[in-house]
Parts: sequence; C-alpha cells; structure tokens
Amino acid sequence: MSLILAADIGGTNIRAAIITPQGKITEAVRTQISLDNRNISENDLIIQLVSFFNEIIQKNTDIEAIGIGFPGFFLGNSGFLISSPNLPKLNNVELASRLSSNLNMPVSIQNDALCAAMGEQRYGAGQGKQNLLHLTLGTGIGGGLILNDVPYTGENGMAMEFGHLRIAHDDDARSCGCGGFGCVESYASATAITKRYFENTQIRIDAKEIYEKACHGDLIAKDIIESSGHYLGTALAEAIKLLDVHSITISGGLTGAWELLYPNLIQSLNANLIPPLQGKISVLKSTLNDNAGLLGAAALVS
Ligand SMILES: [Zn+2]
Repeated sequence: MSLILAADIGGTNIRAAIITPQGKITEAVRTQISLDNRNISENDLIIQLVSFFNEIIQKNTDIEAIGIGFPGFFLGNSGFLISSPNLPKLNNVELASRLSSNLNMPVSIQNDALCAAMGEQRYGAGQGKQNLLHLTLGTGIGGGLILNDVPYTGENGMAMEFGHLRIAHDDDARSCGCGGFGCVESYASATAITKRYFENTQIRIDAKEIYEKACHGDLIAKDIIESSGHYLGTALAEAIKLLDVHSITISGGLTGAWELLYPNLIQSLNANLIPPLQGKISVLKSTLNDNAGLLGAAALVS
C-alpha cells in the first residue's frame, strides 16, 4: 500500500506520522530538533531534515511521498521558502526540491497554519465547507484560509497573518514579536497569556496551568483567559468583514480553554460585525486532536 509521510515542523520539535491516502494515521513519531536555534543555516536545516526523514523511510518502504507543514512563507505551491519569521537566516530556499532530490521521493511543503486549515477542511470540523477560515491557537496565532475549496496562499505566501491583526492602537498597546504593536497575538496567544498572568501576579506558569487556576476560582486567571476570547472575537470580526466566510475552525493547545474562551469570543465577534452578519458565523473547535496540521500536510500529496 502506498503511504504518505507527513510532518508538522515546529520551533523545537517535529511531529511526524505515516498516513494512508484516506487520512488514517498508522504510526506517529515525535522528535526533538534544534530549530530553536534562530541562526540555523539552510544547509544545516537540510541535513537535519534529511537525516530525520531518511531514518523513517528506511524502516517503511511503503512510503511514497512526503508532505510537510513548516513555519514559513512559501511561494504558491512551489515549496520555495521565501522567509521564516523565527528563522531569519532562511531566505529564498528551494526547500521542497532540495529535500526531494536528497530523499529521492516527491516532497511538498506549505505553511503550517495553511496545512492545519486543509486538514480541518478535509477531515475535521470544517469538513465539506467550501470556504473556511482556520486559526491555530498556541504559542503564536496562525491563520489559514480556504476559498472556493482552494487553499489561499496570497502572492507572497503571507495571506492570513491573523496573529498580527491590530486590536489595540493606544499608547499602551502591547509590543509583538513581529516588531509591531497591538497585534492580537500579543494579547491572546498562550505566550501572551503567560506573560499577562505574570505581570499581574509575578507567578510564571504556562497557559494550561493558568486555565486550571481559572477553573478553580482564580479570578485573575479567569479574567485573562476570558479577555483573550474577547480579543480573538474582535480580530475575527475584522477578518469576517473582509472575507464574508461563515465557518471558522480553531485548533491548537489553547483550545483546551474553550469553555472560557468561546462565550467571550462569540460575544465580541457578533458585537463587532455589521448587523447582517451577526449570528451567521459558526466558530468550531477542531475535532482532530492537534492532528490538523499533520493531516493537512498529508493532503498536500494525496
Ligand atoms: Zn505582530
């Protein structure tokens, strides 16, 4: 049987899985990788990835193609990496074709959040939706867009940089990793929640622990998570006014806090939409248990 090797490459680890053309995950692999070195060079990246993939391919001779989600901007469907915000040394890299010639099999690569959107549309909460806006809500906030059944990349692979929509414009607007101020990512990502909780309590714990505290009566924790939902809804309303897409799905670690996030998100979304759109937008939590990105990466080659 022909199988697909799919990989979701993050800052500190790679999740990979062997997937059937029907989207069934048969084997999952996770490995640490030192991409958190911001200064990784093109050649070092290729060497690390080739060695990682080779090890899996040698054990599974039924693998016939590789699909990869990667945190970067790609030119259309070419697998040509224009740049990667967290890996500044990587510019204009023929990533797919270099991997393909080293590994001797077809390799397709696309932006990680766009892969998650594709996975959610094909197998998850967005199944059957011709138009879908997908958010990945984790240490950062990513966005992926499907329009008329086609993943939309933008002209420079930078469409749906949702995390950098501005929701605050005053002098106190929070600074963002992109160099801007007031981006929704600097208020509502897991990293931002940890930071905001620390500013209020001098206690540094991760977003999951903050959610647990919120559920056990910590009012500061509860307020920070609920307001994050509010900020997400505000930014989503701006996106919907541009796109008129009625289905939104959300994946990522922070969806663990859905019960506190969602009511505030949907309230501020509707409050900020133009009246004819109010109440028409459905916002659904991913049904793929964090596998949206992997399944979307497999969809690149199946
Ligand atoms: Zn930003």
